[in-house]
Amino acid sequence: MSGEPLALYVHWPFCVSKCPYCDFNSHVRASIDEGAWRDALLLDLTHEERLLPDRTLTSIFFGGGTPSLMDPSIVEAIIGSAADHWDVASDIEITLEANPNSVEAARFADLAGAGVNRLSLGLQSFDDEALRFLGRAHSAREGFKALEIAQRNFRRVSFDLIYALPGDTAAKWSAMLAQALSLGTRHLSLYQLTIEPGTRFASLVARRSFEPLAADAAAALYELTDAMTSEANMPAYEISNHARRGQESRHNLTYWRYNDYSGIGPGAHGRRLGMLSVRHKKPENFLLAVERNGNGIAEEKPLSASESADEALLMGLRLKDGIDVGEIAGRFGLTSIVDWRRVDRLVGSGHLTRKGTHIATTARGRLLLDHILGEIAALQPIAYAAAS
Ligand code: SF4
Repeated sequence: MSGEPLALYVHWPFCVSKCPYCDFNSHVRASIDEGAWRDALLLDLTHEERLLPDRTLTSIFFGGGTPSLMDPSIVEAIIGSAADHWDVASDIEITLEANPNSVEAARFADLAGAGVNRLSLGLQSFDDEALRFLGRAHSAREGFKALEIAQRNFRRVSFDLIYALPGDTAAKWSAMLAQALSLGTRHLSLYQLTIEPGTRFASLVARRSFEPLAADAAAALYELTDAMTSEANMPAYEISNHARRGQESRHNLTYWRYNDYSGIGPGAHGRRLGMLSVRHKKPENFLLAVERNGNGIAEEKPLSASESADEALLMGLRLKDGIDVGEIAGRFGLTSIVDWRRVDRLVGSGHLTRKGTHIATTARGRLLLDHILGEIAALQPIAYAAAS
């Protein structure tokens, strides 16, 4: 490897329908001009390539939206452009998020042929009733079938499940998790259902159509998840992510270890050269911006040393291994970024562990991460302008 490492995120903003819990930048459109999108994404990528010469690309992540709806030739063109411009790490990880519908599963072989070497599958549940509640367009049977096709086509496969649904119990969730752990997948993302503002679920909860699972019941399921996955040699390496040793998502580790990444496509964030970049969120506005400026950037701003250090702390504490606070402070030329008296108090209460200047959250602590961050650091959350 020669140049400084860089990760690339590519956002595909379209989905066949909008899931009621989803607050991602996803849009439903009757038709999509694939040619226009190919050209726009390639131009947006060229902007980042010019800005960042002499880098070594360590990962690409196609997220969304539903990037498994992309024509594989667009995926191939983006990978090709990135590889033409940057040095490519010999073990580059190229992940694509996929939904397990049969139409998309039929494309897995072509996506592998286009250069994708890791698939992240949104199974979400093995229970048809739960899938209906979550507004998913696939059945449990289709999910298993898609997983089988994925495992045949990609060396590395991960899948997502959502738990802590209304009415979930330890017995119900442990049975589903045991099944998940038996499928031979070496990476799992296990998310608790959260009700995000502005989603359909938020309105349904406001109208009392259903009640989310109580916080203490959800916390008990989190601890159960931690125990079962550790026992199965798939421990959490981040709040919601579990893997066999060596199978962690290298792309996501770039975010959590606060290294540089470029983000292209609608609503994508990037952080490179000490700058935060945000692309236009709405697909049509993104296309117009690319046509006008040759890139989709809506906002770009330099990050101050304290903003960077605070964000690095926030990201690093998501990881089970934690972070070296002294190293982060030094990286940004600061003397101290945490209140050590408060850190030690949280060590005493079993929420943090500490060795010198290295701190990490315990499973109990990871559940209360926002609270812990507020306690130990004078956080200055970065304000992202609402890019249209
Ligand atoms: S498929 Fe994924 S991105 Fe699309 S609406 Fe559903 S949760 Fe959101």
